[in-house]
Amino acid sequence: MKIVNTVKEMQKIVDTHKKNGDRIVCVPTMGYFHEGHLSLMRIARDYGDIVITTLFVNPTQFGPNEDYQRYPRNFQRDVELASSVNIDYLFSPSVEEMYPDNYHTKITVSKFTDKLEGVKRPGHFDGVATIVAKLFNATKPEVAIFGQKDYQQVLVVKQLVKDLLYDINIVVAPIVREPDGLAMSSRNVYLSQEERNIAPEIFRALNLGIEAVQKGEKRRKIINSIVIEHLRKFPQFFVDYVSAVNAEDFSEPNEFHSGDKIVILVAVFLGKTRLIDNMITTVP
Ligand code: AMP
Repeated sequence: MKIVNTVKEMQKIVDTHKKNGDRIVCVPTMGYFHEGHLSLMRIARDYGDIVITTLFVNPTQFGPNEDYQRYPRNFQRDVELASSVNIDYLFSPSVEEMYPDNYHTKITVSKFTDKLEGVKRPGHFDGVATIVAKLFNATKPEVAIFGQKDYQQVLVVKQLVKDLLYDINIVVAPIVREPDGLAMSSRNVYLSQEERNIAPEIFRALNLGIEAVQKGEKRRKIINSIVIEHLRKFPQFFVDYVSAVNAEDFSEPNEFHSGDKIVILVAVFLGKTRLIDNMITTVP
């Protein structure tokens, strides 16, 4: 695995590979790798010849009161973990490299961004869309792998690719969980022991919502309240949102219909730590 720090060098490398007919697969990340990230890198192997993982904690997707400064970072550990899954390149640019002269162009995706994360984290998806476009221009992939963990982000990235005519296939990888159900996240290291013990209740709450749908519940508000009620049993949670939405168009009908693919999305604060998770099902 080779570490690359500049856009110019990265572009030169991918151009050479492309001349040889290699297919490039990109896995964008903010580092502090866990098994979720590594699963994306392994899946990437199946989609091309050259796997590039990008490691960049993107300042523009964090709000002023969010955790950019204290976001967990450990470059040496990330290098070891990424090498262990045999990726070809780790693209790890500096903030100055990705935002020379600050920046004067940003990308706003207006579909899928007016709800949930888009409302709770103003400007977040502008930061995501802008950095994803820049990372695509640096790595020129045929395929890019994103995790279902950030469900709304996947929809935003797919829209970006469609609208800006990127010839890139977006592949969505399943959520990797701890044995007790907690979705893996770099932010889980923020949790105290007590918070960590309660955190899997997010997974249990989502399961209760999904079970209700499977048993025939179609009313959106009832599905939401089943999930919220479980979370409310634990006063340590502050529920930021719980929302069952149509998984394809993100609509919020009063009632779902048989055959609808729905996703239940949750964001909670546990102490100062904000955790998100989701689960998908099809209405029977
Ligand atoms: P992050 O470093 O948190 O920005 O995540 C980088 C990529 O890994 C994103 O596409 C995430 O959706 C994905 N990801 C994060 N956590 C998980 C997880 N537990 N399972 C699968 N993919 C994940």
